Amino acid sequence: MQMRIGGKDVSSTDDARMPVINPATGIEIDRVPEGTIYEVDDAVRAAETAFDAWAGRTVRDRGMILFQAAASVREHSHDLASLLTAEQGKPVRDAVDEVRGFANILEFYAGIAGAMHGEYIGLGSAGDCLVRHDPLGVCGAIVPWNMPVILMGWKVGPALLAGNTLVFKPASATPLTSLSVTALMEEAGLPPGVLNIVTGRGDVVGEGLVKHPGIRKISFTGDMETGDRVRELAGSRLAEIHLELGGSDPMIVWKDADIGKAVDGAVRGRFYNAGQTCTAVKRLFVHEDIAREFIARLRKRAESLVVGDGSDPSVEMGPLSGKAQLERIISVVESVKEKSQGTILTGGSPLSGPGYERGFFYPPTLVGDPDPDCPLMTREVFGPVLPVTVIRDLDEGICRANETRYGLGASVWTRDLAVAHEVFSRVEAGVVWVNKHLTLPPEIPFEGVKESGLGRENGLQAFQGYTRTKSLFISW
Ligand code: NAD
Repeated sequence: MQMRIGGKDVSSTDDARMPVINPATGIEIDRVPEGTIYEVDDAVRAAETAFDAWAGRTVRDRGMILFQAAASVREHSHDLASLLTAEQGKPVRDAVDEVRGFANILEFYAGIAGAMHGEYIGLGSAGDCLVRHDPLGVCGAIVPWNMPVILMGWKVGPALLAGNTLVFKPASATPLTSLSVTALMEEAGLPPGVLNIVTGRGDVVGEGLVKHPGIRKISFTGDMETGDRVRELAGSRLAEIHLELGGSDPMIVWKDADIGKAVDGAVRGRFYNAGQTCTAVKRLFVHEDIAREFIARLRKRAESLVVGDGSDPSVEMGPLSGKAQLERIISVVESVKEKSQGTILTGGSPLSGPGYERGFFYPPTLVGDPDPDCPLMTREVFGPVLPVTVIRDLDEGICRANETRYGLGASVWTRDLAVAHEVFSRVEAGVVWVNKHLTLPPEIPFEGVKESGLGRENGLQAFQGYTRTKSLFISW
């Protein structure tokens, strides 16, 4: 495939291309241009050219185009999902859900279009004031490889509805579905240049976008270290910055929890997308009264998960996204074993044998009684490894949950409203679920606290984040 700039397929100036590898087979499935700062510049110019006409339409008109784009994405959801599975690895049923999730996001923003308006402030004899919510201009968005389509939706939906134009950089490993989605959106009526995609390396295209003087806001999702770099580069020229970074979400299973539901939640929460989700359950705390039964059932479920090539409809967990990711997980688990920092309850070594020869497969892994200082508890581990800690009381659970520099999501599993409220009030996180984990519908604003982020994704709040206010004060 080619890049998409100003509604046209574009190759890179120096004709360099980079491979896209299927993580289940290790086989190259396509090549995309390895963009340079020249294509970044072309994309920003195309977005600038498209801006006045797009911002000049009514918000309802932009909403109608998002509705049409969502319908087209839904119509092609199976083809898009197959492509997503091939480049990213997740099971095809989860890929279908992700593609439909993208359509949900566009529909949510399209649906609120008619209600978006400015404000009037009466100031008595001093006069009247009108407040407009104007688009910012050309925005830049950069996303990782774990949820390429949903994360694209989180940026594209609010940014475009608000009247901005966008230059989007997908992860090097997963550019294909985003490119196909963009082509469908254009066919559905999105004018050329409103959404542009530049493929390529993070340190070239990503940095080129962040540093470009034409970019008014940069919305970045990815690793904390990269986030620091983005903040440093963008901050020096006062562009608006939105950062969605890593997480190490705690899940607290209280003694009165529905154990079956909590086991299902832990399995989905940790092993969905092979554990490569920002708001995955990354540390589990279970009350001692139910720990034995809970852990036994969790282990049984983890061992029964079908792991394999996500294009096989019976597969429940796919490979890790690439070799580097697999090596990182192996090294973390090996270090826990070597230093006796926990007990491997199941899994703990990479999968081998028929079906696993060439892909990057790691089994669902449970680690009992993890040392609080081990990397599973102190760092974000992006893979299917879940440390399980037994707690004696709620205070211990909440304090342990907060022992991290991250603050994305958290969940508590209980039937007791007072327990749920206590966790909601005291756990440091942007979203707290009760008897649930992971789900983030577009209606709900989502914001990382502590070192997990800056700014909001989803909801009306994300829309507002893509606008600036302009006030008019009339003195009669
Ligand atoms: P990453 O930071 O390595 O890459 C993310 C994107 O940034 C890619 O497109 C990459 O090419 C680009 N990039 C790399 N270097 C860059 C630079 N110097 N300047 C600008 N862009 C650059 O992250 P990753 O390892 O691909 O993704 C996993 C991380 O993303 C995890 O930490 C995960 O928790 C986080 N994440 C967060 C959320 C959220 O909503 N908070 C959602 C999904 C993933």
